Amino acid sequence: MKVRYSYLQDQFADPAEILSQIEALIQTGDFTLGKPVGEFEERFADLIGVDHAVGVGSGTDAIKLLLRAADVGHGDEVITAANTFIATVGAIAETGATPVLVDCDDSFCIDVEQIEAAITPRTKAIVPVSLTGNLPNMPRIMEIADQHEIVVVEDVCQSILGAYDGKRAGTWGIGGAFSLHPLKNLNVWGDGGIIVTDDDEIAGKLRLIRNHGLRDRDTIAILGHNSRLDSLQAVVGNWLISQTHSITDRRRANAAYYDEKLAGISGLRVPARKSHVTHVFHLYMVFAEDRDALYEHCLEEGVEAKVHYPIPLYQQEGLAHLGYKPGDFPVSDRHAESVISFPADQHLTQDQLDIVIDTVRAFYAARRTAAA
Ligand SMILES: *Cc1c(COP(=O)(O)O)cnc(C)c1O
Repeated sequence: MKVRYSYLQDQFADPAEILSQIEALIQTGDFTLGKPVGEFEERFADLIGVDHAVGVGSGTDAIKLLLRAADVGHGDEVITAANTFIATVGAIAETGATPVLVDCDDSFCIDVEQIEAAITPRTKAIVPVSLTGNLPNMPRIMEIADQHEIVVVEDVCQSILGAYDGKRAGTWGIGGAFSLHPLKNLNVWGDGGIIVTDDDEIAGKLRLIRNHGLRDRDTIAILGHNSRLDSLQAVVGNWLISQTHSITDRRRANAAYYDEKLAGISGLRVPARKSHVTHVFHLYMVFAEDRDALYEHCLEEGVEAKVHYPIPLYQQEGLAHLGYKPGDFPVSDRHAESVISFPADQHLTQDQLDIVIDTVRAFYAARRTAAA
């Protein structure tokens, strides 16, 4: 591969410092909700600019626990985007609530204009998803939610340090769910998640729910889960967290470079960028004519492109019980056929960015020659 998608081997090429901190932790035996977890939570809350951050087992659990803290459960409906990663829908279903899908628009986020039509008397929450690192129109979503007395739980797993009108992703609703999965912008060495909120009561409830509902060793305040951020992973998180701003800046700069160069290639369409949105480009995703052939061409030329995602969720066998039928989400369908993602991470070199651009350009040039 000339341009690989995963950069983890570069990122952790020199793990000596992390390993020595893990070794120190092993000496203490402080494995469960240990000191590194509290330290990471404090630093994460500072990073986002919120009062509380609560470390949990994964990004999926972060969504689920927030919904539970908002008393979402059996009999409730929860609205989310039809084109999200399965984890969002899975987390909603795990609470016992019914996921209700709403189509996306070309921002890759939920089509805000279609939300109200999906609201019923049973709707308890909306989970907007910041897919690719972009944000939906959060002021409008908050307005709709307030009018209908619905809570907003943000799936911001892909948008750490993203913002809308200068207000950070994760700070709009009752809380924001982040993932620390190895593939996310701020990542650890396995699964991990973290929830941010300014609500003291929700934060307190989350601290109980993530740890079996235990108020202390012998008192169970509420039925909870076993979903704690691992102390070992928190060590990795503490090592990386100070780089979050520079990681974000590099991704944004890479995306701006792609935007400029790819916009001139006929056959490819760069989505509209909005100056009031800070897009953090967890995914650099564009629309491509003849996508499958472009994708194959990229792989053959050593450029590891990806497709997020080739089969819309509502057409998946595992979600058949939701009762949707082909054609229910036409924009998601169109995206499944036309989107392609290119590596945009902080470890790419200028040469690699240019290889990606040249590979795409060559594909469409050859296609035009063949058609002529
Ligand atoms: C990664 C991701 C999740 C789930 O995070 P995990 O840590 O893998 O459980 C949820 N929603 C979206 C949009 C994601 O990208």
